[in-house]
Amino acid sequence: MLKDSIRHQIVENWRIVCDEVASAARAAGRSTSDVRVIGVSKYVDVDTTRCLVEAGCTELGESRPQSLVQKAAELATEKVRWHLIGSLQRNKAKRIVELAYAIHSIDSVKLLQAVADYAIQLNRNPVLLVEVNVSGEVDKHGFNPTELLEVWPQIMAIRGVEVTGLMAMSGLNATSSETRRQFAIVRETRDTLVAKHKCPLPELSMGMSGDYAEAVSEGATMVRIGSRLFEGLLTK
Ligand SMILES: *Cc1c(COP(=O)(O)O)cnc(C)c1O
Repeated sequence: MLKDSIRHQIVENWRIVCDEVASAARAAGRSTSDVRVIGVSKYVDVDTTRCLVEAGCTELGESRPQSLVQKAAELATEKVRWHLIGSLQRNKAKRIVELAYAIHSIDSVKLLQAVADYAIQLNRNPVLLVEVNVSGEVDKHGFNPTELLEVWPQIMAIRGVEVTGLMAMSGLNATSSETRRQFAIVRETRDTLVAKHKCPLPELSMGMSGDYAEAVSEGATMVRIGSRLFEGLLTK
C-alpha cells in the first residue's frame, strides 16, 4: 500500500507541472492544447506509476524497452499510452511495436525498417519520431541535423509507417540560451524537411524537467517530464 502522502504529493506535482506547461505555452503565444505532457515513469515502481495515472497522466514514457514491457503488463487495465523515449535495439523492436503508442527514439534507418516490418506484420501504426543529436554530445543517440537532411529520402522511402516528427535532448551543461538555440535548430531542421519533402511533421518531442519552458517556446508539442513529477518522493 502506498502512503496517502505519496499519492497526494503526486497529484499535487502533476497539477503544478500541467499548470507550468500551460503557462509556458501561453507565454509563447501558443494554445495550451498544443503541448502534451509525457510523464516519464522510469524512476518509480509500478504502484507509484499507477498513482500518476490516477492523478490524470495517461501518457507515460519509459526509456528502457524492458521496463515499458513490464509496466505495460502490470498496468494493462489502465488507459495508458506508452511512449518509448530511450534507445531501442532491433531485437527488442517487436514487443515495443506491439505495445507502444509512440517511439521517440528512431536513431537509424535500419531500426526504422525493422519497426516498419513489425508494424505491417502486427497491423500497428505507432507514432514515430526521429531522434536528433542536436548538442553533438558523443554519448547521445540520433542523427546530427546535417546528416538527417541527407538520410531523409531513405527514411521517407520506408513503407508501412509514417514518421510524424523529431525528438531531441539539449546538451548536459547548456545554458538556458544555448538550450533554446538547440531546440530552435531542431524546429528549423523540421521546417526544412517539411519544405523540401512536403511531408507533414507536426510533432516535436523536446524538453524535460529542467528545460521544458525553453522547449515550449521553441515549438515542442510533447514535453517528457520525469523528476519534476516525483519531487518530494525520490529523496525519501
Ligand atoms: C529520463 C528522461 C526524461 C525525463 O527527464 P527528467 O529530467 O527527469 O524530467 C526525458 N527524456 C528522456 C529521453 C529521458 O531519458
